[in-house]
Amino acid sequence: MKLVVGNWKMYPKTLSAGKKIAEAIKKNGTRAHLRGRRGQIKVVLCPPACFVAPLLGQLKRSPIAVGAQNAFITDEGAFTGEISPAALKDLGVAYVILGHSERRALGEDDTVVAQKIIAAVKANLKVILCVGEHVRDDAGTYFTEVGKELRASLAGLPKSETKHLIIAYEPIWAIGAKALRAALPKDFREMSIFIRRNLVDRFGKKAGFAIPILYGGSVDDRNAEGFLSLGGADGFLVGRASLDAEKFSRIIMAAQNSR
Ligand code: PEP
Repeated sequence: MKLVVGNWKMYPKTLSAGKKIAEAIKKNGTRAHLRGRRGQIKVVLCPPACFVAPLLGQLKRSPIAVGAQNAFITDEGAFTGEISPAALKDLGVAYVILGHSERRALGEDDTVVAQKIIAAVKANLKVILCVGEHVRDDAGTYFTEVGKELRASLAGLPKSETKHLIIAYEPIWAIGAKALRAALPKDFREMSIFIRRNLVDRFGKKAGFAIPILYGGSVDDRNAEGFLSLGGADGFLVGRASLDAEKFSRIIMAAQNSR
């Protein structure tokens, strides 16, 4: 199955604009679901937290799932402003993005990410764990950086919970409007082999091979196909292009058409 996840960050600025984008994606995403074999593709929209509930209502009878961009390390307590994973699950949220580099840049470290993952899987949410290096150097130290981040973020996660786990490889240098370019499909392929080896070492062959590895970082409707066919991506975590219904729908179609 290919997974296509849209990370809307703090956009759009109004609910009505968000509903318009979601409606257009719903139309095209539903067509992709109907056209493909059952279970071939899954589309997830992760809007800003305050739009999660209304979008869940809007997308209720569609194949598009709604995800969250963050959840806290525990379900309850005096933690002003935090989001309970259990409350997200109760609303109907299925997925949560954790360890995104933009949250790590705000101070979230591997220990907190690991705690959040445990709390999210306990609430029965599927976790999209983001990992990725700051820069690429000739010496290949980016492998060490990603390996360390992966191991530390997954500390304490039992093998029995890996069915809830999805990895998104997002090289930080390729994310966002300031990125010079996307990674190349060969960059992704190389890193996904490394990540896979780490997952197999950590969880064993069967569980390690079953964990999807997505690519994220300046994915658009022109480069998506290459990451699927040459890179072997299990899908995408898409930022900017997921706010453009036409572009995002073409990315969904590329995933639907891939094997
Ligand atoms: C992201 O937000 O995870 C992301 C990959 O953003 P963009 O696609 O805009 O680079």
